[in-house]
Amino acid sequence: MYTQEVKECSYSKKCGGCQYIGMPYKEQLKKKQKKVNKLLDKHCEVKTILGMDNPYYYRNKVHAVFARTKKGQIISGTYEAGSHRVVNIDSCLIENQVADAIIRDIRELVKSFKIQIYNEDTGYGLLRHVLIRTGYVTGQVMVVLVLASPIMPSKNNFVKALRKLHPEITTVVLNVNDRHTNMVLGERDIVLYGKGYIEDILCGIKYRISPQSFYQINPVQTERLYKKAISLAGLTGKERVIDAYCGIGTIGMTAASSAAEVIGVELNKNAVRDAVNNAKSAGINNIRFVCQDAGEYMVKLANQGEKVDVVFMDPPRAGSDEKFLSSIVKLSPNKVVYVSCNPETLERDIRYLEKNGYAAESAWPVDMFPFSEHVETVCLLSRKAQ
Ligand code: SAH
Repeated sequence: MYTQEVKECSYSKKCGGCQYIGMPYKEQLKKKQKKVNKLLDKHCEVKTILGMDNPYYYRNKVHAVFARTKKGQIISGTYEAGSHRVVNIDSCLIENQVADAIIRDIRELVKSFKIQIYNEDTGYGLLRHVLIRTGYVTGQVMVVLVLASPIMPSKNNFVKALRKLHPEITTVVLNVNDRHTNMVLGERDIVLYGKGYIEDILCGIKYRISPQSFYQINPVQTERLYKKAISLAGLTGKERVIDAYCGIGTIGMTAASSAAEVIGVELNKNAVRDAVNNAKSAGINNIRFVCQDAGEYMVKLANQGEKVDVVFMDPPRAGSDEKFLSSIVKLSPNKVVYVSCNPETLERDIRYLEKNGYAAESAWPVDMFPFSEHVETVCLLSRKAQ
């Protein structure tokens, strides 16, 4: 039985982040189910969507942009939909509540420490964004202060004051973003306190998460998603497995104990560095990571005549590309487990694979993003007998 409680959000009109806010949870799930069914019914059986017992406050990563109003008030929150005006948000129904409390207190501290807020139009000022990442199982908390310059006046006292208010904070990082860009983070990180990363545990394995690394934002549903993806692969311990678009290596490392060998492929070098460290500290020896475009790497493997049994793929919203998909056809793994956060591009890529020797077997929608219209799906494809 899913929750019947409908909480009201006072920011929803301006924020626009949650398309389904105010809608009973059961109804949201129905809409997502319908969307996936409409796209995938023609390819395979679509199972019942896996929803959350408690769909509120699930986001483990919270981002707030800082601004100063014309009247001089310091505000923080999100951009108004389609604009660069900032909506001042005290607490959000989908964000981790500890993170929101820290952001509110940073707003106050910034005033007493007289830290200048960055002005997007003039390029003057210091503080641009605050990013908070929390470990669901470990409770560790990382605060990333994104500044326009590496020099922060009285930074030690600022960190001390913040930690006094929030002893749960385990690390504070100063990230330098001095470019005129809408990317939140710049490239340079300076650790002000702690290790510079947090750890969390997913499916029993500990992961190190740096400010820049991709990490799924809904830890409860991620475990369920990964367990489903791995069970669909039907691993017996003998397989050679590829985890393409692997991020910090979470799917591959979870699968490694049921496979002979795993190769993770990822473009982001920070994520690969985390992945290598993660495998080492978890004592997983049958996995290695390659920092390369997944399609290029797969083409190389195929050209070398290598064999692979199972490919897990988890591309960004835009889906995969022809280079990658054609190399799957050439490598001809028995199974492809496609994890997708966009059923439209999933459907497009399934169509390609179905034309080239694969059959979609089943699709399992998972609600990773309650209150938004997004839906995650894991789909099993098998190579058709020749
Ligand atoms: N499987 C991981 C990450 C999924 S997000 C997890 O569940 O956490 C998608 C990842 O694909 C991101 O880490 C992104 O950096 C990576 N990526 C995007 N384009 C890529 C490409 N062309 N080749 C390899 N990795 C890519």
